[in-house]
Parts: sequence; structure tokens; C-alpha cells
Amino acid sequence: KQAAYAEMRDVEPFTRDGTRIAVMMNAGLRDDMSALAMSGADGVGLFRTEFQFLVSSTLPQRDRQMRLYRDVLDAAGDKPVVFRTVDIGGDKAVPYLDSPLEDRDENPAMGWRALRLSLEREGLLKAQARALLEAAAGRTLSVMFPMVSEPWEFDAGKKVFEDQLSFLRERRKLVPEAIEYGCMLEVPALADMLDLLAPKLSFISVGTNDLTQFLFAADRANPKLAERYDWLSPAILRYLARVSQSLVGQNVRLGVCGEMGGRRLEALALLGIGYRRLSITPAAVGPIKEVIRKVDLGELSEQMGRWLASPPPSLRAELQAWATERDI
Ligand code: PEP
Ligand code: MG
Repeated sequence: KQAAYAEMRDVEPFTRDGTRIAVMMNAGLRDDMSALAMSGADGVGLFRTEFQFLVSSTLPQRDRQMRLYRDVLDAAGDKPVVFRTVDIGGDKAVPYLDSPLEDRDENPAMGWRALRLSLEREGLLKAQARALLEAAAGRTLSVMFPMVSEPWEFDAGKKVFEDQLSFLRERRKLVPEAIEYGCMLEVPALADMLDLLAPKLSFISVGTNDLTQFLFAADRANPKLAERYDWLSPAILRYLARVSQSLVGQNVRLGVCGEMGGRRLEALALLGIGYRRLSITPAAVGPIKEVIRKVDLGELSEQMGRWLASPPPSLRAELQAWATERDI
């Protein structure tokens, strides 16, 4: 099986009816980049910049950040990399940014983390913006903000980058050739604001790990709740289908970067409700490409439409049977 997936490395993920699906990988460390060539992913759809912060005992200085981002872009060569600004705080606490004990979040996942923290600790985001802009000098920079819950947060995050860009230009420094800005969709409320937000974005990436824990109010880190919901539940899939529907005709690339996209049946479901870009764990790239090559997207979309209109007792069981019948 392993050898079969190695063969998939150079195979392009077209569906049977000819749609090219983008299969990217998630990464967070320099060392992860070797997986890009090995897996044959189309690029890095999510680079979790907080990993450098989490493995460091002191705040990584701007220059160290810059070197990491430059190495990552060098390693990626012609393939795109989406850098997500730090998602620290909450359960990804770092000692050197710790808030006083009395300020500790009781619900860290919903707490002071990610872009919320970055916008308040403006020095932190400024330094990261400078590091990213310098690292991508002469190339395309793709920046993504985590945990955006309202459009103004995106505007504020982007402004920090644009200010740093002006600063570099004034000093006649080499800057990126192009900058693409995007958002994670992982806070449920943002979905209802996409008509306002989407025109400002190059891409949206759905973070199903956080999104689904919020939709079901079930902590993703609590094993007692692991069985509470299924990624193939009609509630989640209807929600995700509405998001993709609402963006039809908008000039914005929509993808998924949560773990859900790396699982066979979940990937099928996502394809069936309009998702054409998946960013997944490197080990899943081969297996998911294989799934994509066996799918007739037209047939799958119609089937998903029927299942979501009147959900069967177990969509998972139905989808599994459907896939088995087609040797997927
Ligand atoms: C997500 O929430 O789905 C996601 C991709 O981000 P993280 O797992 O880093 O929170
Ligand atoms: Mg997340």
C-alpha cells in the first residue's frame, strides 16, 4: 500500500469527470517541508507558524522568524505556501506570553488566542508581518488569519501587514511581488458575514477542527466528548454546504484545512458539497488523491444533495456503502 501511494506522488488528482482538485498539505516546522516532494502535494495550504513559538522557551525574534519563513519558501520552490499568523494562547499557551493567573481563560479554545491575541499584542503581529514580508521579498506571500470572528478583525490584521509593507517600501526594501490575504473560517458566526468579507479575500480555508467543536459545543480536546458528533453528521455537512453555496460566483478560493479533509469518507463528502481544495496531513495526500481519481463528481454531488435533503439514519454507513460499490 505504501508503495502504491508513492506511485500517486506524480499523479494529478483529477476526478473521473475531469475536475482538478487541489491537494495541499499542512505543515508547521522546517523539517515538515521534505514531505512536500515526498507526498506530491500541490503546496502547503496551512503553515502553522505557532509551532516555532510553541517549541521555543523565549519569544522567537523577528530575524529568527524571517529565516524560518524564507527556508520554508525556498524548500517549497514553485509551490505555494499559505502562512497562518500565530494561533497561540488558549490551549496553545506559551510561557513567555502568559497572562496573569487571574486572567486565565476558563474556556481556552474560546478564549484569548490567535488573531484576538495578535491584534492586542500589536508588537507581536508587527514583527511577524515584517518577518513574512521580508522572507517573501520578490515572491508571492500568502497570509491567513486564524479565528477571525468578524470582518473587522480581518481588516485590522491586514492593516498591520499593509503598514509594514509601506514601511519597507519607504526604505526601498525589496517587498513581495504579490500578497494574497485569506481567512480561516473556524468561528461559526463568520459564515453569515461572508458576503461582506469574501470580496476582500483571495481565499478562505475552513478549519473544521475548531469549527465543529464550536458548532456542537463539544471540546475537541476532551476524549469524553470524542463520540459526541461525527464529521459526517448532517448538521455539519449542511453547514459546510451552505458555506460553499454562498460563495458560488465569488472570486475567492474555498478550501478546508482541518483533519476532516484527510479522511476518506469525509473527503468524499466535502467533494460532494462543492469543496475543491483540501489541505491535509502529508501522509493522507496519496490516499486522498487515489480517492479523488475514482470519483465521478457529478454523481457524488447529486447523491450528497439527496442525503442532505433527507438524511438517512447514518450518512456514514450510506457513504461507506456507496464508496465500496464503486471500489473507492
Ligand atoms: C482547524 O481548526 O481546523 C485548524 C486547521 O487549525 P488548528 O487545528 O491549528 O486549530
Ligand atoms: Mg483552528
